[in-house]
Amino acid sequence: MTDARFITRAFEAICDCGGRLCGTESERAATALLHDLGAEAAGAPVRAEPFAYRGWRPLSCALETPAGPVPAHPLVRSAGGEVEAEVIDLGRGEPESFAAHADEIRGRIALVRHELMFNPGTLHRRIKYRAAVEAGAVGFLIAGPAAGGMVAGSSGRGDEPGIPAFGISPETAAAFARTSAGRPVARMSLETEEFDATADNLFVDLPGAGPETVVLCAHIDGHDLGESAIDNAAGLAVALEAARRIAADRPAGGWRRGLRLAFFNAEEWALTGSARHLDGLTAAERAGISLCVNIDSPVGGAGLAALTCGAAGIEPMLLRAAEARGETLRLHRPFQANSDHANFARAGIPGFRLVAGFGEHDAAARLVLTPFDRRDLVSDAALRRAADLAETITRAALDANDAEAASWRAGMIEAD
Ligand SMILES: [Zn+2]
Repeated sequence: MTDARFITRAFEAICDCGGRLCGTESERAATALLHDLGAEAAGAPVRAEPFAYRGWRPLSCALETPAGPVPAHPLVRSAGGEVEAEVIDLGRGEPESFAAHADEIRGRIALVRHELMFNPGTLHRRIKYRAAVEAGAVGFLIAGPAAGGMVAGSSGRGDEPGIPAFGISPETAAAFARTSAGRPVARMSLETEEFDATADNLFVDLPGAGPETVVLCAHIDGHDLGESAIDNAAGLAVALEAARRIAADRPAGGWRRGLRLAFFNAEEWALTGSARHLDGLTAAERAGISLCVNIDSPVGGAGLAALTCGAAGIEPMLLRAAEARGETLRLHRPFQANSDHANFARAGIPGFRLVAGFGEHDAAARLVLTPFDRRDLVSDAALRRAADLAETITRAALDANDAEAASWRAGMIEAD
C-alpha cells in the first residue's frame, strides 16, 4: 500500500508505448510492460495466453478531393482497393438516412459522422459501415468529432470482401459538401496486407478459499492516432492499482473467491482476445466466474457509469459500493457489445464496464479514437477516483456470500 506513485507511473509507462494497435511494436512493448506491471501489482507471476487472429496492416493509404490530397486514416481491417466515385453525405449515418437515400448510394462513397462512443443512443461505426456495404457503396468515409483531427476505429469487416474505409477530419468532410455543381468526387486508394498473427492475453491469479473467481480486466490494445490514453491506458492503470491495493492485504487463506487480473488483447478487433479466452474455457470454468469487472475508459468525464449488458442482478451491489465511495454511479442496462464484458455476458457471466463521461457530450471522452486521446486529458485525481470505485466493487465481490453472488446472475442467459 506504500507506493502512492504506482498508478501514475503505470499510466505514463503505458502511454509511452504509443497507441498500441494490435500487431505493432507499440502493442508488443505494452504487452511486455503489462507482464511486469501485473506481477508487481499482484505480487504473483503473470501467465501469457497466446491466441491466433487474422492480422492486418495498411501498406499505403491515400485520399484525394477535387482540390488535392488530404490526410486519411484506414479503419482497422478495411478492405484494400482503389475507387473513384462521387461522395454522398449521409449526415450522422442513421438507418433513416440510409433508407431515405437508398437509390442514390450504389456506386458512390458513403460519408457519415463518428459520434460520442459513450452514449445511450450511439450508433456504432461498424453498423454504419455495414449499412454502406449493403446499400452498394464503393467506399466509406467517417468524419471525426474534433476540429483538425481524423478518427480511427475498426471497420468490423471479418474475412468477407468489403470496401475501403477511412477516418477523416471534419474539415475534409466539409470539402465533400454537395454544391449546385453536383457531388464532389473522391479517389480512395488503400493497399493492405493480411496474415496469420498471434497476440497474448495476460493473467495473474490470486486463488481464493473457494472455487469461484472474480475477473478484474482491462484491454491492452488501442489505436495509433494518439496514445490511447483514456481508451485504455487509464483502464489498465486503474485495474493494476485496484489489484495492487487488494493484493496488499490479502487474508492468509485468501478471500471467499479468487481474483483473476486479466489484460485482454485485440479488443479493438471486435473483442477477439476475450472471445478466444472464453471459448477456451470449459463450461465448468465459465460457471466458476462470478463476476467480470471490466475497466475501459474510466476517466474523461464528470461522472462514472456501469454498462451492465443486461446483468440487472449486480446493480444493488454496484450502487452500494458507489455510495460507500460517495459516487453517483449511472447504470445502463441494454446490451452493448462495446467492450470485453459483452463476451462474458454472452457466456452467461454477469459483469459490467466501468466508463466515464457516459452521455456527456462535452466530455474529454468524446476524443477517444482521435489524435487528441493523449495523457494530457487524464488527471491523477481522475485515475485515483476510478481506482477507488473499482477497488471497492472488486473487494465486495470477492467476499460476498453465496446467496448474494447467486443473485448476480438474475436475468442472465444461461451459459451453454
Ligand atoms: Zn476501449
